Amino acid sequence: MIKYIFATFQTTQLATKAKDVLDSAHIECELIPKPVGLGAGCGIALKYKQIDNIKVSSLLHAKSINASGTYSFPYPEKKERKKKMGKKVYLDHNATTPTHPLVLEAMLPYYRDIFGNASSVHAFGREARNAIEGAREKVATFIEASPEEIVFTSGGTESDNFAIRGITSAWEKEGKHIIASSIEHHAVLNVCKELAKKAFKVTYLPVDKFGLINPEDVKKAITDETILITVMHANNEIGTIEPISEVGKMAKEKGIPFHTDAVQTIGKIPVSVKELNVDLLSLSGHKIYGPKGIGALYIRKGTKIKPLIVGGHHERNRRAGTENVPCIMGLAKAIELASLEMKEGNQKIKALRDNLEKGIKESLDNVYLNGHPTERLPNTLNLSFEFVEGESIVLNLDLEGIAVSTGSACTSGSLEPSHALKAMGINPAVIQGSLRFSLGRNNSEEDIQYVLEVLPGIISRLREMSPLYKMKGK
Ligand code: PLP
Repeated sequence: MIKYIFATFQTTQLATKAKDVLDSAHIECELIPKPVGLGAGCGIALKYKQIDNIKVSSLLHAKSINASGTYSFPYPEKKERKKKMGKKVYLDHNATTPTHPLVLEAMLPYYRDIFGNASSVHAFGREARNAIEGAREKVATFIEASPEEIVFTSGGTESDNFAIRGITSAWEKEGKHIIASSIEHHAVLNVCKELAKKAFKVTYLPVDKFGLINPEDVKKAITDETILITVMHANNEIGTIEPISEVGKMAKEKGIPFHTDAVQTIGKIPVSVKELNVDLLSLSGHKIYGPKGIGALYIRKGTKIKPLIVGGHHERNRRAGTENVPCIMGLAKAIELASLEMKEGNQKIKALRDNLEKGIKESLDNVYLNGHPTERLPNTLNLSFEFVEGESIVLNLDLEGIAVSTGSACTSGSLEPSHALKAMGINPAVIQGSLRFSLGRNNSEEDIQYVLEVLPGIISRLREMSPLYKMKGK
C-alpha cells in the first residue's frame, strides 16, 4: 500500500484552489471530501503521494495557501476501499473504537523520542512533564474542570474503582451506606458487591421500562449513613441517559459525594461537570477513538478521597505509578478531535442509527426497542428480536462481516442475561433476543444498507428453526 499525504482544509474552496495549483504543476492529486479515518471535523482533504510532499508544500506556500494540517498514512486505493466496505461493517463502538490515525500520530513521538520519566528533573523529564500537563489541561477544559482536578488512570474500570473505593475508605467513619443504580457497569457493581461483604450497605436504585432512574428514589434512599451516590451518565447497553444533574443537586444539598460513570457519554453528548453537579466522573480513552489502557477520574477540588494505588508521589499523590505519557497524549488528542467533530459527527451518526432502526422495523415484525426512545445516546440501538437468540444473530452477522454485540463487552460471551435489561423488567425470553448496534464516525449509509440487506434473512432463517416461533403459529 502506498503512503499518501492528506493535507486538510477548512473549506472546499481552499482545497480546490490547492488542487488547481497541483494540477497545473502536473502533480497527481485527489480531493477527498470524507477521508476514511480523518473524520468530519478535519474538513476536506487533498491526497497526494508522500514523495511529492516537499514540492507540494513549497508550491502551496508560494500561493499563500495554508493547509490546516498534513497527515501521512497508508491509504487503500479506491477499488480496495470499496471491497473492504462491502465486507466489514463495525457496529460495536460501545465496546471499543478504532484508534484515530491522528491519535496514533500524536502518540508516536512519545514512544520514539520523548521517552523521559515525567518525574525526572532533567530536560528529558521536563519535556514529558510539560506534555502531560498540556494534555491534562485539554481533558479538563473539555469537561469544564480545572487541570488539577484530573487524575490519569488506566481506564474506565480503574476510574470507577478509584472513585468508589477511594471515597468509601476516606468516608467510612461518617457512614457505610452507598446508593448505586441497578444498571451500572460491572466496574461499579462488582466493587459495590465487594464492599457489601465488608459491612457496607448498598441500595440499588430501580429503573423504569426505559432504563431511567427516578431522582425521587434517590431522595428516599438517602440516610444519615450515606457516603456515596453513584449513577452512570448513560448506560452502555441501551444508551439511556440518566438525570444526573438532578441527582447531583440533591447530593450537593446533603453534602454526599456524587460519582458518575461517563465512559459512554464522553465524545457522544456534551459532558460538563458543572452542569452535571458531580464530584467525581470516570472517562476512558478507547471509547472515543483513543488508545486502550488510559482514562481519567475527575475529582472536584476539596473532595476527601484516598488513593487506590499507592507508591510514589505521582498525580499529586492521588495515583502512584510512572505516567503513561504516549497514552495520555493519545487521550488528549482523542478529546481534542471529539471537541471538533462531536456535534456534526453525532448528527450524522444519529441519522444513520435512526435509518437502521426504521429499516429493521419495516422489514421484520416482533422487534422491540430497549432503552429510551429519545433520552438516548445518538449512536446506540438495542433491539430485541423475539423468538431468536441474540448470540445466534451475532454469530450469523459475523459470518457476513458485520460486528455487533448482545450487550456489554463483559456480559457477552457469558450467556448471563443482561442485568440492565432484567432491571428494566423485560421478559427474559425477549432479553435473549437482544442485540446492540453501536455506530461510530466511520460508518456510512452503505454500511446501514448492507446490514438491512443481510439481517432480515438471518432473522427469518433463525425463526424458521425456532420451535417457539412455530408454536405461536407464525
Ligand atoms: N463503564 C462503562 C459504562 C463502560 O461501558 C465501560 C466499558 O465498556 C467501562 C466502564 C470500563 O472501561 P474500560 O474498558 O476503559 O476499563
